Amino acid sequence: MARRRPSADELVAGLQAGDRGVLARAITLAESRRADDRELAQEVIARVLPPQDRPSTARRVGMTGVPGAGKSTTIEALGVWLVEQGHKVAVLAVDPSSTRQGGSILGDKTRMQRLGNLDDAYIRPSPSSGVLGGVARRTREAMILCEAAGFDVVIVESVGVGQSEAELAELVDCVVLLLVPGAGDELQGIKRGIVEVADLIVVNKADGEREALARRAAGDYRHALRMLPEATPGWKTQVLTASATEGTGVTETWAAIEEHRAHLESDGGLARRRAGQQRRWLQAQIDEGVLAAFAERAGVAEALDAAFAGVAEGRVTVPQAAAQVLEVGFGPGAPPER
Ligand code: GDP
Repeated sequence: MARRRPSADELVAGLQAGDRGVLARAITLAESRRADDRELAQEVIARVLPPQDRPSTARRVGMTGVPGAGKSTTIEALGVWLVEQGHKVAVLAVDPSSTRQGGSILGDKTRMQRLGNLDDAYIRPSPSSGVLGGVARRTREAMILCEAAGFDVVIVESVGVGQSEAELAELVDCVVLLLVPGAGDELQGIKRGIVEVADLIVVNKADGEREALARRAAGDYRHALRMLPEATPGWKTQVLTASATEGTGVTETWAAIEEHRAHLESDGGLARRRAGQQRRWLQAQIDEGVLAAFAERAGVAEALDAAFAGVAEGRVTVPQAAAQVLEVGFGPGAPPER
């Protein structure tokens, strides 16, 4: 990377001018493994972050569903329509698989081409492996930068693979779960607890032969939801049918997202939700820092090896070994009893 490092002033000015190249650069800096890159990105983030009393009014929407459910087709249809309505739409892909192996379930190359060609859209593929930081932190920072660049709708796309939905709910104001009718797995989401974070369920591929099936599935979901806790207090999770390829249900999906938004704003739920997210974000950052600092303390790495040897040889139990390592790091008597 022989490119000249931009200054914070240049980055802030570029972002505020809505320059997508600068936006891409800023996100890359935030994801970098180099500490000086991340410091620069943090300075930019601190300068563009809206004040607490005037939080971002951008729509933060999460879109999740199993691979093949139609997430990218739906986001493209919705995104193009939103741009036509005068919005600026950013799409951030979160793909837990891409950080583990080289491969990516989201297969970024050919997705959402129509949306990607629009001036008022920005699509950020999932980071490749080797990028620093957890999925949530990276996405949160990218989201702040997109909003600073004037994107008033940020769609975070996440592959539905269990844990990721809870993480998605930590990032956005509204979680949309995309389902496909058929294959006898209508209740898959309920079984896996995904619907517990879904503010809106869209049964996609409601076209052709599958239309009737989709309607029935939607009815089943509405029924089943009555027995589940609300994802947003006071909000009844809506269930819609749609066809992303035919473009039906797209405006209805957006209307439901806006209705959810109005509900959140009407009872202070939006501020509460964002405050809860910030609180947990703060805690996560501290946890991360504490762990890193502990690992670097003198003698800890060696103590860990010695403790593990003791466990392997049956001389000490795991809790005893852990206590020994904590004592090396914190000093005698210091490790907190948990
Ligand atoms: P993703 O993996 O969730 O992003 O799913 P994609 O958007 O890539 O869609 C997977 C496949 O389903 C593609 O072949 C799409 O053309 C198809 N598909 C998506 N939405 C619909 C729909 O509403 N109706 C039908 N018939 N096919 C769809």
